[in-house]
Amino acid sequence: MDLPNTPFPARLLLVDDSPTNLRFLAHVLHNMGEIYFATRGEIALQIARDKHPDLILLDVEMPHMGGYEVCQRLKQDPLLAEAAVIFVTSHQSMEHEIQALEAGAVDYISKPLNPPIVRARVKTHLTLKQQSDKLRQLANRDGLTGVFNRRAFDELLSVEYRRHLRTQIPLGLVMLDVDYFKRYNDFYGHLQGDDCLRQIANTLVMASRRPAESVCRYGGEEFVVLLPHCDRAAVLQYGLWLREQIHQLALPHEASDMGIVTVSIGGSACIPDERTSTTTMIQQSDSALYDAKRQGRDRVCLYPLPE
Ligand code: GH3
Ligand code: MG
Ligand code: MG
Ligand code: MG
Repeated sequence: MDLPNTPFPARLLLVDDSPTNLRFLAHVLHNMGEIYFATRGEIALQIARDKHPDLILLDVEMPHMGGYEVCQRLKQDPLLAEAAVIFVTSHQSMEHEIQALEAGAVDYISKPLNPPIVRARVKTHLTLKQQSDKLRQLANRDGLTGVFNRRAFDELLSVEYRRHLRTQIPLGLVMLDVDYFKRYNDFYGHLQGDDCLRQIANTLVMASRRPAESVCRYGGEEFVVLLPHCDRAAVLQYGLWLREQIHQLALPHEASDMGIVTVSIGGSACIPDERTSTTTMIQQSDSALYDAKRQGRDRVCLYPLPE
């Protein structure tokens, strides 16, 4: 899934078990971006998680975890899959080239390295990466607030749902709706209403620190946050924290009894199995949200409600 935009400087990760090769590549690619190094596959994956490189130059032959395996693992993880991978290898055969492309690489460079060719290919792939980042941004983000849109959320939810089905760990979901927002628009005007939605979205993003905690604008003044590895208790705690963060924003709302902008939150958590689906998760959070509204707004309810 998409990550924050990648403005220049680009981030390059160079992976090779030979420090001499790394030094040579770094010399060839100097001033093309921020450069990170790894001499082992496991370390490369860790740096990819921490730094979100745009481009990874990956040696094929490495002890412990070879380049193909590193590439496959990157491509299986939605948070890492967008990095462009170029294999750098002394293998010349067509089979190796096919294997590299099948592992998800965008290109394949043979050793011994020719510096102008390496620079030219890296430049081409960095340009393509920036263009695809922009397209991804347009396709997956809500134009008003910059958080994920509904389409992206549906994809994220189904990826996480399948992951939690495999691991049998609870997955949480909160749905949040701004209270008396029609009155807010009527009182302050639609443009200030837009600004209010942006501030709420920012607050949700700031309050969601783990990378897979995806904030999404689900509809007009409704947001959802996906909470991987969260059971009911953790969902409740998170919902209360969100409510508190919105209180601290303290946006005036004179047309509401509360005097400030507040939100109602519905949450649910489940260990996915054959009786549940992504739709049930959304319905359950929605039904809890409905209860929060019915009980007076500015509160958090969980599904199922106590009898
Ligand atoms: P409740 O407390 O029951 O949620 O009441 P409400 O007024 O918030 O709910 P209602 O569904 O009646 O109204 C939602 C309002 O949100 C109506 C609509 O004009 C406004 N809205 C939806 N999308 C946007 C937007 O992008 N910008 C602005 N400014 N307002 C929006
Ligand atoms: Mg090697
Ligand atoms: Mg609504
Ligand atoms: Mg509302």
